[in-house]
Amino acid sequence: MKLLNFLRGEAFQRGVHPPSHKEATADRSIRRLPFAPQLVVPLSQHIGKSPKPIVRVGQEVVRGQLIAQSDDWLSVPHHAPATGVIEAIELRPSARGPWVESIVIRVQSGSTQEDLWGKPQDLSNATPQELLQAIWDSGMVGLGGAAFPTHAKLTVPKQAHVHTLVVNGCECEPFLTCDHRVMVEEADALMAGIRYGMRATSAVRTIIGVEDNKPDAVKAIQAAIDKIGATDIFVEAVPTKYPQGSEKMLIMALFGVEIPSGGLPVSLGMVVNNVGTLAALGKLLPAGRGLTERVVTVTGPGVARPGDYRVPLGTPLKFVLEYAGAEVNSRQVIMGGPMMGQSAASLDVPITKGVSGVLVLRGEDIAEREQRVVYPCIKCGECVESCPMGLNPSILGMLASRRDYEPMGSHYHLGDCFECGCCTYVCPSNIQLAQQFRIAKQVLRERATA
Ligand code: SF4
Ligand code: SF4
Repeated sequence: MKLLNFLRGEAFQRGVHPPSHKEATADRSIRRLPFAPQLVVPLSQHIGKSPKPIVRVGQEVVRGQLIAQSDDWLSVPHHAPATGVIEAIELRPSARGPWVESIVIRVQSGSTQEDLWGKPQDLSNATPQELLQAIWDSGMVGLGGAAFPTHAKLTVPKQAHVHTLVVNGCECEPFLTCDHRVMVEEADALMAGIRYGMRATSAVRTIIGVEDNKPDAVKAIQAAIDKIGATDIFVEAVPTKYPQGSEKMLIMALFGVEIPSGGLPVSLGMVVNNVGTLAALGKLLPAGRGLTERVVTVTGPGVARPGDYRVPLGTPLKFVLEYAGAEVNSRQVIMGGPMMGQSAASLDVPITKGVSGVLVLRGEDIAEREQRVVYPCIKCGECVESCPMGLNPSILGMLASRRDYEPMGSHYHLGDCFECGCCTYVCPSNIQLAQQFRIAKQVLRERATA
């Protein structure tokens, strides 16, 4: 455990310490959500091309069966989250806002939770390429929220050399505890997933970074390491600070080194993966199965039965909320945590691979938020002091308010902003800086491809 002490840096500079609000769910075991009568699987759930449906309306499918696939390297297949009948392939609302083509499954009543598709595979002698193919086939994406295809993330570019697999168990977003519970309850599966990740990347060691406000997770992981007698897997507690769960901040905290602007961890010989992703791989790969469910934190002052739920992918948000005891409208629901999450477009949106949390606010919380007056910037510098990337959100915000987007990218490094929300959190003028930056990036992306 202390092997790395000579290497470790302090916590990254700046950042914030929002209240954690994790007490409602942190100590509760993961519970399984039943199947909703209908599941909706959007084809587009991540960057890259959408996979194409390979089923037709009226066809019967079994849980785990491949229902959409693509040859595109940045695309992943989808698997039926339940046994049932394909009811429609049509446009449906998505968590990101726009309607997207989706496969709608009418779930067979009494449907089993067992995966009926896929057959056990022995990957003990698989080459890195064969492992990457198996990971691709599983439909896995980063379950930490980014939903980047995992096989692509674990692919080491030619000319690069990876020595360390960094596993992100920080979960710094307030309210969210799904990663925490996975670390406590599924540490053995995490070890199996880490072994796959190390072999796929040829990394010779793994460092698991966990915020020091989760000592039970550190203990469970250490016990799992000891159980398999691993001498190349280490767990390290890192300071609790937001956004410690960002790749760059975690690497800074663990190794005291900074990833250069525009660079990736692989430039320093590292690949970063989330604990939930690797634990899921540790279970799916030996069984030869695809991703059909994920753990989601459902919490907040508007929920009667908060908890971490194992949710079949495609479950409508409305069904999740009813089960957890939340009678709310979509304005009260945030997909994700309060710092980086986004308001739910509607209660009909489904849970997808990248949804780690559902935060439910009360009517009075929303009224208070909506009545907040936005004042002009008073140049207090609080946002500059909080930005972990060393940007100047004050100037960026000024440019965004004038819709003067070009210099934001060319002169003020908007591309380095990862929308952590620290600047918005500290701004005494209530300026929605991170939201403005998200829009600015979208506009610049569209202009670049026009
Ligand atoms: S924190 Fe808000 S008010 Fe202060 S400088 Fe930044 S944008 Fe302006
Ligand atoms: S949202 Fe962007 S600009 Fe604001 S603090 Fe985070 S990285 Fe910095």
